[in-house]
Amino acid sequence: MTSNISFLSYVMKQFDEAAQTIGLSQDLCDVLKKPERSIIVSLPCRMDNGELKVFTGYRVQHNSARGPYKGGIRYHPDVTLEEVTALAMLMTWKCAVVDIPFGGAKGGVKCDPKNMSQAELERLTRKYTMAIANVIGPYLDIPAPDVYTDAQTMAWIMDTYSKIKNEPAPAVVTGKPITLGGSEGRNEATGMGVAILTREVSKYLGKPLKGARVVVQGFGNVGYISAKLLQEMGCRIIAVSDSKGGICSNEQLDVEKVLNHKKMTGSVINYEKAKNITNEELLELECDFLIPAAIENVITSKNADRIKASAVIEAANGPTTPEADRILFEKGILIVPDILASAGGVTVSYFEWVQNLTRTKWSIEEVRANLERKMVKAFDEVMKFAKEYKTNTRLTAMVVAVKRVAEAVKSLGSWP
Ligand code: NAD
Repeated sequence: MTSNISFLSYVMKQFDEAAQTIGLSQDLCDVLKKPERSIIVSLPCRMDNGELKVFTGYRVQHNSARGPYKGGIRYHPDVTLEEVTALAMLMTWKCAVVDIPFGGAKGGVKCDPKNMSQAELERLTRKYTMAIANVIGPYLDIPAPDVYTDAQTMAWIMDTYSKIKNEPAPAVVTGKPITLGGSEGRNEATGMGVAILTREVSKYLGKPLKGARVVVQGFGNVGYISAKLLQEMGCRIIAVSDSKGGICSNEQLDVEKVLNHKKMTGSVINYEKAKNITNEELLELECDFLIPAAIENVITSKNADRIKASAVIEAANGPTTPEADRILFEKGILIVPDILASAGGVTVSYFEWVQNLTRTKWSIEEVRANLERKMVKAFDEVMKFAKEYKTNTRLTAMVVAVKRVAEAVKSLGSWP
């Protein structure tokens, strides 16, 4: 969440490259480079000590040609309009690459949630919802959790929105608690998508999944689920890490036991059956599949040359810098880009929305089977195009996405 201006220009650069590859007309480029709506709201909020504090909130709606806007809301001290704009644009491409009928949006409130009580967070969330209530809705814009927001935050948004509209509106947000219409499997969806795509990469590269060596950076929601599912599929998880450092084993780590160790000690480090390593060393381990699932900009021009994985599956948003991207491509390392690799979450969000609108409840098996179908189809489409045009997979995923959105914008025409 640092250097937001450059993050936005990086996202714009990715778009420009894709637009150039497909020869997109200048007028369509102009439409797609600008968000359809950006709003900034001022949120006076009473703190527990009686003080009135004024927070700033944002909602950026990038494009709705393929369906209602969709995207998370983050609470963080570094949130800026530029960052939210870049993330909104990425959501448009992410929804398009997995072909779900949503556009892209993102929201954020500049605050320090780690130093706020639950009561303060609830008041702030309800204020923010009131301020954006006229521009969100089940058929208009559907928020979801992101950094430092969760199912509880979504429950408050849903409740506030439903009270304002005077009717229950579960489909206004996704990532809700199950009791309020949340979907089975939403919590593990991103990690499950990562595991499904890792399995597809192994087939694509002709490398057996059984016994494949996997390294995972970040042992949070996405990293842990990815590691757990891949271990169940027969992979050897040889290293994992968190913000305090990493651990590696010559044989393999027992993912459940590492989780218990982390729960007891607060970190994966000092796990008795492994060697402590740094996060930098972890990225450079010899392995079949490297899964960055922590933060952005970890594979850079400084270490890309020393990456020894056969494939990098980008579970995190933006883990590879553009310079590193080029180096990995030249080394023949296959990248599954973030907009595709981390799309499991938004895909199951879409399933949640469908269940809410149709008043149905899918079993976990149905959710998994539908996620599998969507992810595999998207991967096949991107790989087919990458082979045909000999382009790198990041550009290819962008091309597939931009093409879909541009066609929708073109078909809609311009009105009035
Ligand atoms: P999380 O907070 O549950 O876990 C993050 C993990 O990364 C933690 O183990 C943390 O200790 C570790 N970490 C933090 N800083 C680190 C550092 N400098 N080096 C190594 N490890 C570090 O978050 P999450 O939900 O698992 O998300 C992980 C990544 O996946 C993020 O980039 C997020 O944007 C992306 N993502 C998440 C979802 C989702 O559904 N949760 C969806 C799409 C993308």
